[in-house]
Order: sequence, then structure tokens, then C-alpha cells
Amino acid sequence: MKPPCRSFEEFRLLTNQIMQLAMRGLLRIDFLNEASMILMEFSGCDTVEMWLKERGRYYRGEVNRSRKPKFRFEIMPTEEKEGRIFPRGKDRHLLGRLCRDIMLKRTEAFLPFMTPGGGFLTGDISSALHQVFGAEIEAEDSNHFLPARQFSSLAVIPISVEEENIGLLQLKSKTSDFLSRNDVEFYESLIQTLSLAMIHRRTQVALRERIKELTCLYGIAKLVEGSGLTLSEILQGIVELLPPAWLYPDVASARLILEGSSYVTDRFREGDFRQTADIMVEGDKRGTVEVNYSEAKPELDEGPFLLEERRLIDTIAQETALIVERKQTEGEKARLQDQLRHADRLATIGQLSAGVAHELNEPIGSILGFAQLIEKNPRLPDQVEQDAVKIMKASLHAREVIKKLMLFARQMPPQKICVDLNQIVDEGLYFLESRCAQEGIKVERKLAGSLPKIHADSAQMTQVLVNVVVNAIQAMPGGGKLTIQTRASKKAVSLVIRDTGTGMEEKIRKQVFLPFFTTKDIGEGTGLGLAVVHGIVTSHGGSMDVKSELGKGTTFEVILPIAEPRSGKE
Ligand code: ADP
Ligand code: MG
Repeated sequence: MKPPCRSFEEFRLLTNQIMQLAMRGLLRIDFLNEASMILMEFSGCDTVEMWLKERGRYYRGEVNRSRKPKFRFEIMPTEEKEGRIFPRGKDRHLLGRLCRDIMLKRTEAFLPFMTPGGGFLTGDISSALHQVFGAEIEAEDSNHFLPARQFSSLAVIPISVEEENIGLLQLKSKTSDFLSRNDVEFYESLIQTLSLAMIHRRTQVALRERIKELTCLYGIAKLVEGSGLTLSEILQGIVELLPPAWLYPDVASARLILEGSSYVTDRFREGDFRQTADIMVEGDKRGTVEVNYSEAKPELDEGPFLLEERRLIDTIAQETALIVERKQTEGEKARLQDQLRHADRLATIGQLSAGVAHELNEPIGSILGFAQLIEKNPRLPDQVEQDAVKIMKASLHAREVIKKLMLFARQMPPQKICVDLNQIVDEGLYFLESRCAQEGIKVERKLAGSLPKIHADSAQMTQVLVNVVVNAIQAMPGGGKLTIQTRASKKAVSLVIRDTGTGMEEKIRKQVFLPFFTTKDIGEGTGLGLAVVHGIVTSHGGSMDVKSELGKGTTFEVILPIAEPRSGKE
């Protein structure tokens, strides 16, 4: 085949065609494919190969008239070190070597084959390579040094921008002396257009990706700002924003996993092609963000993904971590405020009650004493006697309140010794079991076989048990079952007290530890029992948990830290 004779007008049209191709903002791979096809048709060559260097990586696209599929694309396994490109893997043949030298402008040695624009031209590749690399061919006579068997004519034209080569074009033909020096000079000037076109394409694509990226990040910012959304709602919203930001939204789905909960888009499918980023909160991995493609797509920077998408998914993982962190602090703050309010109330009551209780004790003692005296009088009318009994009862209740208040106000630190919680339960229940039997309550003990010791004031611990159990008894007026369980975890032991009583509404459950909160009639409840329990447990470094279901029953759990083995004797 002879090269087609081209007119100036035809060259002009080609230049235009290439420029328009660039305007379309195609992906690198599609651009290489189409530009090479256009050049193959125009030049009449059998093979057109283009190299492209972007962000330190080399890409290669090749079209071949007689092969199927016509187009091949790869990311070249090379690395650039100290001004040389080193192939990794099999790509060691001499033609590759020649092209790499041209790309890096290390071609002084091949002067007879060089063109004014820094390119290379030969009509007989075998003898040219022999002349250029003669010594090396003799040293290693293997065939893979001359893969160029399939063609004779070769032109290599560097693509340069501002003195730096960003790629090259190879035109190959089976026919020897296919291309003239004049042709090559034309292609060298056309290449100027091509390099501009490539830069244009790159900015076009970068711009489009940037817009998608910003749209996604803006969406996330909007979600966070939109007040009143829960963390789950925000995370679900983020997941929905991901697929449209990726290159192939139609086959993309996304998943976000945070602390075991996962949020997915509608058509989520775990595919072979995915990009993931870790969500790191305060140095710990808490989850991942991932985007999946359900079908194979051409190899880009990172599998089928773009470098921009790596950056985007990393940014999204970071944003998510920040959101989680913020939500965490908000929750922490609310909890602290609650605790503070509670502590504040306790402290005020403590101070007040210490004084008031003392003041009231005496007059109440007198009221009780005189009421008893009145009641002893044998000549009392019935009505008066009944009234005297009521006065006595009321003052006994008042005394009970004062007793508890004083206990509460007593700011004595607990006398802590090493105790066995099981033993406290055994001794405490001893007094309570008969009362349970009277009320038709079955008591079940589920005590852990061996329990680590705790550091505690045993009198106070007994009080915890008694207060919680008395509430449970009161919650089962028609009988029921009381379960007392002890168990141990790594750092703590728990006392679990479960009843099958009335249970509580959520609104009540939240208030049970507040001093003076009671739902019981005057004379039955003081609202101080659980406040005292809570005070004791926290002063032991422990915590409490209540679960309750209306009509079914209530479970209280007291969690206490295990005594740390002290150095020396214990
Ligand atoms: P009191 O028993 O004097 O009312 P507490 O502080 O012991 O005060 O308890 C506060 C309130 O918590 C009770 O009035 C009751 O409404 C609720 N409560 C406590 N324990 C239980 C329980 N086991 N079942 C149902 N309600 C309970
Ligand atoms: Mg009580």
C-alpha cells in the first residue's frame, strides 16, 4: 500500500477533527482510541500507537488495522527514576527502549534517523535498530529484542508541551519506506495541535469531575447543616450522594458501614470492582465507605476508578468521621449536662437536708411522743383515739423520710473493703425472703459461681439491694417472680434485679433516680430510695441501668468495677 496523497485542505480538516475531538472532554482511554483511529485512517498506516504521560504514569493506546479488537489500552508498568523510564515486567524490547529514549530526549546517539522535531524515522526498522543498538543485539540474540517483525516503516514523533514531552505518536506500516520526511514534518506540526487538544481534554475532564465532586460535598454539607437529622439519616443521605459523583453512575452503588450498621443505596450489590476508604475517628477505624461497579469498565488510574475519585472517597470518609465525632460530642454534652443537673440537685438537697432534718427530728419526736401519750389514755372518745393513731402514723412516716434524708446527706466516704457481692446478696435476701413469701412472690437466685471481689462498703451495698428489692416487691402487689442475678464481665460485676411487676412508662423510667420522685401515695413512698441507691453506686465508681416494660416488669442492673489487685497483701 502506498501512502495516500494528501492535499493541504485535507491536512487542515484533520487538524480541525482532532481539535473537535478534544472539545468533547472524553476520557483518556476514549480519546486515545478515537485519535489513533483518525490518524490510522488518515495516514494509511497499519498500526498507530500513542503514549501519554499523566501525573507520572504512562498510558498506551494502540490501534491495529488487522487485529481484533482493533484497540488496545494499558497503563504501562513503568517507573521513572533519575531521568530514565524503567519498564517493569516483560516490556524490554528494543523498540520500547527507543521510544522511552525519545520520550526523555536521550536520542543523540541515533542522529541519522532523527527528524528536526526530535522524532525518529526509518523505512527499514530491522537495520535501523541494528545500527542503533547493534552491540546489545549481538550480546543477546533473542527474538523479543526485535518485536518489530510485523512492520518495516516506523515514525516516532514526540508530543511536547513547553519543551517537555508528554507523550508520543508511533506510525507503523508493513510497507518499507512508507513515510517520507515531508510526511513526518507534517505530522510533527499536527502534533502541536494534538498536544493542545490533549491539555484541553484533560482540563475538560478535570473540570467535569470537580463539578461532580463539589456537588457531592455540597450535598453532604447541606445534610449536616439541615438540623434535626439523626446520625443514621445523615449517613443514609451521604450514601445516596455517592453514585452520581462517580464516572459511571448507572452501574455504581454505594455502602457505608459504621460500627456494624450498614447504609446502602437502593440497588447495592457487592461487585468485583470497588473503591473503599476507611472512616477513622480519633485514630480508630470505625467503618468504611465504598463504591461498587456492577460491571467491568476500562482500566483507569485505580482499577476502573479515576484518581479524582480516590481523592473524593477519601474526603468523604474524612467528612463522615468529622460528623460522627461531632455527634458523639453532642451526645456526650447532653449526658454531662444531665449528670450535672442531677449532681447539682443532689448537692443542694444534701446541704439543705442535713440542717433541716436535724431541726425537724426533735419536733417530730415530740409529736410522736405526745400522740402516743394521748392514745394511751383509756377514757378517750373513739374518734380522738383514731385521730391520735393517724398522727402517730404520719409522724412515723416523717421520721422515715428524715432518716433517709440524713443518710443521704451524710457526706461520709464509704468504708470500702474487699467484699464478695454474692455474700451481700445472700445476707440481704435473708431478711427479705419472708416478706416476699407473704406477698406471693417467688424468689429465684442466679448467683455466679465465682465472682471477682469488689471494693465496697458492705452496709451501703446491702442498702442498695434492699431499696431495689423493696421497690420490686411494691411493684408486684398481686405476687410474681423476683430474680436476683450476679454476673461478672472483664472489668466489672453486676447485680441484676428483675421483677414481673407493673413496669413503668418511659417518662417515669427516666426520673426514677431523682430525689423525691415517687408515684406512690403519701405514706408509702418518699421518692428517696433510688436516689440513695444511685448516690451509693456512683460513689463506688459504678453505674446503673434500668429497663422496664409497662405491664411486664422491670430490671435494674447495678454495675460495679472489680477491685484492682493491689500490690502487696490483700
Ligand atoms: P419510692 O419507692 O419511695 O417511690 P424510689 O426512689 O425507690 O422511691 O422509686 C421511685 C419511683 O420509681 C417509684 O415511685 C416507682 O414509680 C418507680 N419504681 C422504682 N422501682 C420500680 C419497679 N421495680 N417497678 C416499677 N416502678 C418502680
Ligand atoms: Mg422505694
